[in-house]
Amino acid sequence: MQLKKTSLKYLTFILLLVTFINCKKNSKTELVVLSSDANSSEKLIELAQSVLKYVKYSSRVIALTNATVFDGKGNSPKENQTLVIVNGYFWLIGKNSEIDIPENATIINLKGKTIIPGIVGVHNHLHIPQFPFVGEVASKLYLASGVTTIQTCGSASPQKEIELSKKIRNGQFIGPKIVTSGPYFTGDGGNSNMIIPRNEKHIKDTIKYWTKKGVRWFKVYRNTQLKDLKIIITEAHKQNAKVTGHLCSITFEQATNLGIDGIEHGLNSISDFRKNKTFGICDGSREYIDELDINSQKVKQLHQLMIDKNVFLTSTLAIYEASIPKKSFADKRTLDAMSPFLVSQYQERRKHYDNLKSNDNLREKRLKRIMAFEYQFFKMGGTLTAGVDAGRHILPGFGDQRNFELLKNAGFTTEEVLKIMTSNGAKVLSNSEIGSIEKGKKADFVVIEGNIEKNIRNVELVFKDGYGYDPNLILQEIKGKFGRE
Ligand SMILES: [Zn+2]
Repeated sequence: MQLKKTSLKYLTFILLLVTFINCKKNSKTELVVLSSDANSSEKLIELAQSVLKYVKYSSRVIALTNATVFDGKGNSPKENQTLVIVNGYFWLIGKNSEIDIPENATIINLKGKTIIPGIVGVHNHLHIPQFPFVGEVASKLYLASGVTTIQTCGSASPQKEIELSKKIRNGQFIGPKIVTSGPYFTGDGGNSNMIIPRNEKHIKDTIKYWTKKGVRWFKVYRNTQLKDLKIIITEAHKQNAKVTGHLCSITFEQATNLGIDGIEHGLNSISDFRKNKTFGICDGSREYIDELDINSQKVKQLHQLMIDKNVFLTSTLAIYEASIPKKSFADKRTLDAMSPFLVSQYQERRKHYDNLKSNDNLREKRLKRIMAFEYQFFKMGGTLTAGVDAGRHILPGFGDQRNFELLKNAGFTTEEVLKIMTSNGAKVLSNSEIGSIEKGKKADFVVIEGNIEKNIRNVELVFKDGYGYDPNLILQEIKGKFGRE
């Protein structure tokens, strides 16, 4: 059913494109006819009233004019662009002077504004510590912040994720597209709310059970054993699912050689270069990171191995920053969105940090190393992605925006950061419809007021599946609701 629908959509688009190329000279009037054809053959999802109330634009044909556009593929921005969107897909993109705007289009003048592809977050949970499911408020925070697709990267409530994902897909709830995960796998000594494999059959049954329900990702956690990881990867791939890991007992090299798809958190979860490492045991200390030469041959060799084996790396800088006493501050919008319980936890943490009065900047230096590790991997040709890994005062969506700022601090250009946060995410999700601003792609994108280098937080509109949402309306309604007891 899903396949049929997708291929029909594709066929419709190709037909329209061919027709359009054939009669390009006839421009305006023809396009109007074509657009209405597109309307009749391809309907947008109908939204429930509870979702529609956040929608500012719902026309089938929309023309955005005078925009500055970052395509999400790493190219330099283009100015004075006009983009015509038909039924939620980019139909025409070009200089203002080159594009004929269909007569039936709703025109939005974006002078002084920037367009980027919708953010694709690939470590974007719907749970936080102590709360196994915060999906309904998290979804709103994600979308309002410009995150239009998430991969949840391990779930504490897989069934609830699947249900929420369906509701959003059917237009009954507001949020990003959700690519769901199964429950976490770990090993002896690991968290008791995760799957600790009893035997091979246990692993295979678990993966079959969840993939049948539509899950496409599994995450292995710190105590996972090598023999189990091998079975998990083999079975997941057999069921058309992918595996990523927050590693510790297993090294990046071992996991890469076993065929894992992705590795989370970068340097902060590496155990490859730990002195006296007991293989198969998760030893949490990270001091060895402080002495590691990131530019050394052995680190470069590991990066090259990951690149050769097509293993992506996910950056989660914002949540790491939240553990640095001198940098661990919540802004006003975060405090507004957090529940009284989370606010009081935050205040206690702050009080503790303030009392430390230590000049120790070890963690700050470690952040710089984590950044350097990711920068080198990317520059060598590795697929670096990003995700928020919400927790502490790092909120869904807001934390993704903080990642943008921190990746810039790591030395990446704006174009590179956007590539990491959009098209690279789409690439690891094997979704060629999203992640960039190109003709024929889904028009999931974000309108930002002014220059993005200064204010990625200033989200003015978020388009997803043909609808333009007003982020301020969404945020107004969630005050005090994130992380309720
Ligand atoms: Zn996580």
